[in-house]
Amino acid sequence: MNYHNTLGFAKSLDEKDTLKRFRSQFYFPKQHDGSNKLYFCGNSLGLQPKLAKTYVNKVLEDWQIYGVDGHTDAEFPWMPYHEFLSQPMAKIVGAKESEVIIMNTLSVNLHLMMVSFYRPTVKKRKILIETDAFPSDLYGVQSQLKFHGFDPDEDLVIWQPKNNQYYELSDFDALVDQHRDELALVLIGNTNYYTGQFFDMKHITKKCHHYDISVGFDLAHGVGNIQPHLHEIGADFAVWCTYKYLNSGPGSLGGCFIHEKHHKDKAIPRFEGWWGHDKTTRFNMRQAFNPIESVEAWQLSNPPILSMTAVRASLEVFEEAGFETILSKSKSLTGYLEYLLKDLNDNNINIITPKNPDERGCQLSIQFLDADKSLFDKLTQAGVVADWREPQVIRVAPAPLYNSFEDVYQFVQILKHIRYAG
Ligand SMILES: *Cc1c(COP(=O)(O)O)cnc(C)c1O
Repeated sequence: MNYHNTLGFAKSLDEKDTLKRFRSQFYFPKQHDGSNKLYFCGNSLGLQPKLAKTYVNKVLEDWQIYGVDGHTDAEFPWMPYHEFLSQPMAKIVGAKESEVIIMNTLSVNLHLMMVSFYRPTVKKRKILIETDAFPSDLYGVQSQLKFHGFDPDEDLVIWQPKNNQYYELSDFDALVDQHRDELALVLIGNTNYYTGQFFDMKHITKKCHHYDISVGFDLAHGVGNIQPHLHEIGADFAVWCTYKYLNSGPGSLGGCFIHEKHHKDKAIPRFEGWWGHDKTTRFNMRQAFNPIESVEAWQLSNPPILSMTAVRASLEVFEEAGFETILSKSKSLTGYLEYLLKDLNDNNINIITPKNPDERGCQLSIQFLDADKSLFDKLTQAGVVADWREPQVIRVAPAPLYNSFEDVYQFVQILKHIRYAG
């Protein structure tokens, strides 16, 4: 697209934006003068859809009116509540409905998945992960290694980026080749939370499966931001949270994908609970565990409906907007941010996110070679909500559902003012 560096142009893009009506369906934090903050932190906590409040209130009301009978009599009964979420969730991650479940939280699900998909032998016992994986993922794999009696210092294989910036698939391939007989599991965070790089999951999966290595993805920064095509690429499992790009509220539930090829595998080890048991006989009690033949077998508990209802609200907004349309706006919106930053012609500004739109989501990680955190503090004072990563990176994530081209334009104007006029 041909962009221009004027407010008028930004406004004209907003005018043409088929998703513009969704902005008013979210609550924006306010500045002192009552105007909206420039919110670019959907990679950390997505804004509240107004529908969430309506739905949460509805559950409180149902509980008030029905008591225990809400499990069956509420308009959206609590017993099968998770089932209302699976289909819209499955579309967003490119999976079948039977492969996707909303349950627990991300790090918990990661451990549950490793119970099933990290099954080391004395020889084939290593785990591969990227070097700047999110801390929780690292602690997860380290503790799984220790749990099985292995040593993380020896048995964790680390994928490093070549020039301290981009990860190369050729390096990944070489590492897997080198450790092919010892690797039991590959776990990759996609997209990378720090640089915003999106890895070719099909390539990674194919490479691992060639050597009979299980492969799982942490889509915390990917879900709602890129289309991972989980079923088609054949990943064994994936986990994610719903409070970042999926806007379902602080600490809200996680999601989980298990490929259907594993659903009928009777030999697969799994931690089990009553919510994974066949629904028709669940309440007969005292019966041998009879797993549901889908990802639902991995559920443990009856879920927290108050959080789930916020997930339902969020997924409805995604459904109404259409995920393809969201992704297409995301490319132009982030492309516009990139264009405006480059137009500053500032040698001390370095975008460490890949330039290729297919290798990133909406987030740009901007490195300021000459700045310290005071730059970020000034942006915050000027009403910009982004986030700072030591030593000198600001992550800015324009979310296509609620951010406008004008937001992006105003952000760069503020940055310009602080750097060159302040
Ligand atoms: C946000 C994030 C998490 C957070 O895990 P919780 O269990 O939801 O606290 C984990 N991993 C990655 C890659 C993340 O980005």
